[in-house]
Amino acid sequence: MTDRQPSPVISVTGLGFRYPRQRDQVLTEVSFTVGATEWVGLLGPNGGGKTTLLRLLLGQLSPRAGRIDVLGGTPVRMRQRVGYVPQHASIDSSVLASVEDVVLLGRLTGSSWGPRYSVLDRELALAALEETNTAELAGRAWRTLSGGQRQRVLIARALASKADLLLLDEPTTGIDIHREKELLRLLERLNDRLPILMVSHDIALVSHHMDRALWVDRTVREIDAGTLNSDSLERFFHGERP
Ligand code: ADP
Repeated sequence: MTDRQPSPVISVTGLGFRYPRQRDQVLTEVSFTVGATEWVGLLGPNGGGKTTLLRLLLGQLSPRAGRIDVLGGTPVRMRQRVGYVPQHASIDSSVLASVEDVVLLGRLTGSSWGPRYSVLDRELALAALEETNTAELAGRAWRTLSGGQRQRVLIARALASKADLLLLDEPTTGIDIHREKELLRLLERLNDRLPILMVSHDIALVSHHMDRALWVDRTVREIDAGTLNSDSLERFFHGERP
């Protein structure tokens, strides 16, 4: 963590959102916080609003009601300081870029005219590759990587941007158990200095590794630790309410 971080790092109050030309609210009366040292899971049924919530936190969508603070500012203002790690499958695998090129994208700022990188940019990209144990992949083509390698490279891209907060969207999807363990060890290490908010469908993973979990299904509720460790959470995925 850096001394630039206020606490909490995410604060959402009375958030409401619906997509343009849609009648129904996707999210309503959403209030929660994420603290500066936390690793928080977002669980919930498909269509519950997890991706929409991430997009609101990233400033890609604007709330219809309520307020979102990220790192002490609006999501749009703080965008450069939030490291977003999408699902690796969402990046086109026909991309011809090298791994280093992908990580350097983390150094692109809104004001850049085309990718012209400084020595510092390259140093930060290399440091991020080293931190995620992917330095030996730097010259490889993105499309030749496995799912687990891609996910670590996407984390490196977020770190290269000097993020103060990581948002991850189901990073373990499509990754074998061995690589998943590696990835979780990496995230555990990163959580020593960075807060993490992570969408996951894996209840065991959330209960073993994270400090707290939030249930996202049109609104957001805290899942208490006792519930998280019990089978009852399975039933929430089948319609019961936490
Ligand atoms: P989750 O990530 O939990 O599966 P989403 O945030 O993707 O949930 O979706 C929540 C709801 O918003 C769903 O009903 C979905 O159909 C709707 N939705 C998602 N994206 C759009 C969009 N671009 N336009 C209209 N409705 C959308």
